[in-house]
Amino acid sequence: MTYQGLIHRYGQYLDLPAHTKTISLLEGNTPLIPMPRLSREFGCELFVKFEGLNPTGSFKDRGMTAAVSEAVGRGAQTVICASTGNTAASAAAYAARAGLRSIVLIPEGKVAAGKLAGAIAYGAEVIQIQGSFDDALTLVVEITQKTPIALVNSINPYRIEGQKTSAFEICDVLGAAPDWLCLPVGNAGNITSYWAGFKQYQKGLPQILGVQAAGSAPLVLGHPVEKPETIATAIRIGKPARGEQALEAAQESNGKIIAVSDEEILSAQRILASEGVWVEPASAAGLAGLIAESAKGFDVKGKKVVVVCTGHGMKDPSIITESFQSPKLIPVNYNALVDVVGGA
Ligand SMILES: *Cc1c(COP(=O)(O)O)cnc(C)c1O
Repeated sequence: MTYQGLIHRYGQYLDLPAHTKTISLLEGNTPLIPMPRLSREFGCELFVKFEGLNPTGSFKDRGMTAAVSEAVGRGAQTVICASTGNTAASAAAYAARAGLRSIVLIPEGKVAAGKLAGAIAYGAEVIQIQGSFDDALTLVVEITQKTPIALVNSINPYRIEGQKTSAFEICDVLGAAPDWLCLPVGNAGNITSYWAGFKQYQKGLPQILGVQAAGSAPLVLGHPVEKPETIATAIRIGKPARGEQALEAAQESNGKIIAVSDEEILSAQRILASEGVWVEPASAAGLAGLIAESAKGFDVKGKKVVVVCTGHGMKDPSIITESFQSPKLIPVNYNALVDVVGGA
């Protein structure tokens, strides 16, 4: 049978109300890509779960198919979210598919080009606010409490339900849960979903390494960060909505939550790209964390490790192009080409 999306594939494991009316873009079913070079380096079996290959380019589509399907089923006509970018693009796409109005609030000037363009392309009404993601979230929570507009941020429980499916897919491919799961942590919906998913699926439990950016690491510091800063804009969040659950997931799994610098994140992004997987900066945080921990003696030899790469590199092209000179320009001339390429 051809693939029909996550609710069709895993609906029996998802706690969605009976009124849910499936809206799908055939999200999920993303590849678990073996990484032979990184595996050799760490002496482990390392895989990337490449969530950038979802319909709108990030894992947010897993939760959004569930949240929008539920909202449509109960008669909602408008959805709203606060977003660092990927939630906005995803909400806009699923709302468009369902024929709903979508409104997205983003922090002024802090959203990567590919994400903003996506939200606009799918027809969202995009509003910038003179504040942070956390401020935007406070505002959308208030408006959804006072109006019939449906909230599709990950405090919406159906987002978490949908996002559990990545844990199911990993278990289905590997036959069991991996030993370690490394992933970025921003608002902490995803780490919460993975942990719930692995527990529910009963194919074993991974230890979880959650990774924040050093300039935006409330769960490592133990207190909210007033002005979070990092080039990894998708995890530029100072007050994670599901912070408690993230800490619980790390603790119960016998794992941990750590912070890495922006340099370490960019370096991990380059390493992934050098093995053929281009991800946006936040998505490289999981690998950056694994590298940082290994340097301190953390040993994954002989283990199965899954690094979750949450969003596609194309979302944030300027991070790459700004650090490169523009390509060489030559005349349409064979010798000019050989001058540049060399004779090899
Ligand atoms: C949303 C997002 C994250 C953070 O996920 P949380 O559920 O907020 O912790 C990480 N990476 C990318 C690419 C994202 O879009």
